[in-house]
Order: sequence, then structure tokens, then C-alpha cells
Amino acid sequence: MRTIVQKFGGTSVASKSSREMVMKKILDKKNSGFKVVVVVSAMGRKESPYSTDSLIELINKSTLSPRELDLLLSCGEIISAVVLSNLLNEEGYKSIVYTGYQAGIKTNDNFGCADIIDIDPINIANSLGKDYIVIVAGFQGANREGDITTLGRGGSDITAVALGKALKSQCVEIYTDVDGIMTADPSIVPNAKLLDSMCYSEVYQLAEDGAKVIHPKAVEIAQKYNIPIKIKNTFTKSEGTTIKNTQTIPSKDMKDIQNQKILTAITYKKRRVQVIIDVDSENDNTENLMEGITKNNISIDLINFFVDKKIFTIDKEDLTILENILKKGNYKYKIIDNCCKISATGYKMHGMPGVMARITKTLSREGIRILQSADSHNTIWCLIDEKNTDKAIKALHNEFKLYE
Ligand code: ADP
Ligand code: MG
Repeated sequence: MRTIVQKFGGTSVASKSSREMVMKKILDKKNSGFKVVVVVSAMGRKESPYSTDSLIELINKSTLSPRELDLLLSCGEIISAVVLSNLLNEEGYKSIVYTGYQAGIKTNDNFGCADIIDIDPINIANSLGKDYIVIVAGFQGANREGDITTLGRGGSDITAVALGKALKSQCVEIYTDVDGIMTADPSIVPNAKLLDSMCYSEVYQLAEDGAKVIHPKAVEIAQKYNIPIKIKNTFTKSEGTTIKNTQTIPSKDMKDIQNQKILTAITYKKRRVQVIIDVDSENDNTENLMEGITKNNISIDLINFFVDKKIFTIDKEDLTILENILKKGNYKYKIIDNCCKISATGYKMHGMPGVMARITKTLSREGIRILQSADSHNTIWCLIDEKNTDKAIKALHNEFKLYE
């Protein structure tokens, strides 16, 4: 019999009526002959009582140990799984709930952002054999000692794909509150267009650059094991986005080039901070700085190193630690807070002249300054003031006609 993993995000399990929609999606698959494994996130977003954010508000994060914090955070998904199971039971369907630990998900010790190292799906397989709908609490596993760990925000996507691999699932369906992956965040660009088919590396890039719709680690696992993913809307009948191993080769024909869309999507990452350090070329102590950054697990990007200046960006969350390092080392530095990194991605951009010129012109027309930029063969990144985020995304989406 064929197995399918379906993952439902926070908004999909938020209320009784949304859970009824979830149940429909589960039963559609069950009734067409699939064994169904369901992965759920915690219920609702920020303000909901059992969401991850609400659980965090119950405690003082600075005095709680990472082990206990993970134990607390894992509860949101467990509550959600039991409530959904209860609904299925009420409707006469057999279902069973497993925590990540009970589902056999083994992780390393990295509390708060653990990596899955192995899955022993024996309990799930037994229950599927007895015709149960299996519901697994997402975003969690356990280390070798049996301590509960969590996989980082958005981690239920990782649970779903990793289970898909362990169970040799035909496909992993990620259900959310939008129709699939779109040319831009539809909450900012109402005429953003659904991308119906994409390759893993394209989606990975978008996810890394902030498109929340799927976790980059989930895409990484799917690509490694060639597991097809579908991103779908719990609340509509849209076919969604299929992610698989194909890539369109750009045509070199001039006529084709003119008709092609150079960009696939515009994404953004807020809460970035630009760091500019003046370096005394006689006494360059950048090496020490880099050591401090590595030791404290601070991830840096948009890295531009010159003889007399080192420029990079960090997440706002790491700013206090970084400033401590900079002060201790007597560095001369400037911080530009509240930045947003805009990404323009497209596989057809490679070798195409004039893309950066169009981006610069478009942003300048809107009165938006580019604080820094970088590029790869398929993406151009621009750092801008965070307050201009929506304006920049809308303008670029329009300029490159991504709505067509
Ligand atoms: P879930 O709780 O279901 O995991 P998320 O909030 O993690 O949902 O992800 C879905 C959200 O991702 C959407 O509501 C949308 O606002 C946002 N998003 C950002 N960029 C994109 C994009 N390019 N395409 C679709 N959604 C996007
Ligand atoms: Mg998510």
C-alpha cells in the first residue's frame, strides 16, 4: 500500500473549522487508498494560547535551560496532534498520536535547533499496519539520552520530509494558508502568481532567503533523497506547487530571451543588521573577530572585506553578543540596524546583462537606497532600510512582470 505524509501548519490547525478542512484533506487520501501519516504544527500564530510564541511568553528565556525550554516548546505540537486525533475519532476514524520521541525521531544534542540523525519508524509502521491514521507532533525529536529536542522554528516541515524518507512515502504534502510558492509573499503582493512547478535548488534558495512557506532544511533532505514535495492550501482546491528534480534550461535564442521571465521570485529577510568595521591596516585583528563570531555561532552574510573595511550583516538576535565582542576587541565600528535583505532569484538570470541595472533603477525610482549588494549566478541581493520592504518588493515584482 502507498504511504503519504501530510503536514499541516499552524493556521491549518488553529480552529475547529480549520481542523475540519484538515480532516477533509486527510480523508481524501485515506479514502483513495493511502496509508496516511499526518505531521502537525502548534495551533495558530502569535496570539493563540497554545502557539509556540505563547509558550515562550510563559517563561523567562534567559534563566531557563535549553533542555527545559525544548520540553516546554514541544508541548504545542503535542496538544495540536491530540486535538486533531480527537476530531478524527469523533467522526469514527481510528487515529493514534506520537510525539517525535515516540515516532522514533533521533536527533543530536543541539537543543533549540537540533538535527535529525536517524528515524526508527517501527511504531508508525505498526500503527499504519493496523489501519490507523498516524498523527505525529512536528518540530521535535529526542537525543540519545531521551531528552526532548526541538528542530528550530518552522521545523515541522523537516519532520514531515524526514518521515517521508523513513517511510518511503510517495510524496510529502505541506499544507499551509496560501496556494503554494508564489512569485512573492502574497500578503505583501496581492497579485503574486502561483509557481506550479519548481526544482529543489530554486526552492532552497527562496527558503534560505526568507520565503517562510517551507523550511530550507526540509528542501535539502527532499533533494538528497529525491522525495517529491507538494505545497498546498488547506483551505482551497488549488493544485499547489510541486517541487521535484527538474530544471528548465534557459534558451539562448534572442527571441525566447525577450519573452522569458528573467526572475522567478522576490523574497525578503527582515531583522538584518549591517556591521561596518574600520580596520587599521598596520594592526589588522580581523582574525580574532572572526574567531569570536564562529565561537558564538553567529552566522554572517553579505560579506565584503576590504583592506581598510570589513562589512557584513547579521541577524538582529545576535547583535548584543556581536557588540560585546566588538567592544572587548576595541574595534571601531558602525551598526546600521533595521535592515531588510531583498533577494531577486531566477535561474535564467545567469549570463543575462542588465538585471542589476534594472533593480537599481527600480529601487532608485522609489527613493530606496541600496546599502549593500551581492550576487550569485541565480540571485541578486540588496540590503535596504526595513521600512521600505513592501515598497521595494512591489516595485521589483512589477518591474520584472512577475504577475504575468
Ligand atoms: P505554516 O504555519 O503553515 O507553516 P508559514 O507562516 O510558515 O505557514 O508559511 C506560510 C506563509 O509564508 C504565507 O502565509 C506567506 O505569507 C509566507 N510567504 C513568504 N514568501 C512566500 C512566497 N514566496 N510564496 C508563498 N508564501 C510566502
Ligand atoms: Mg512554516
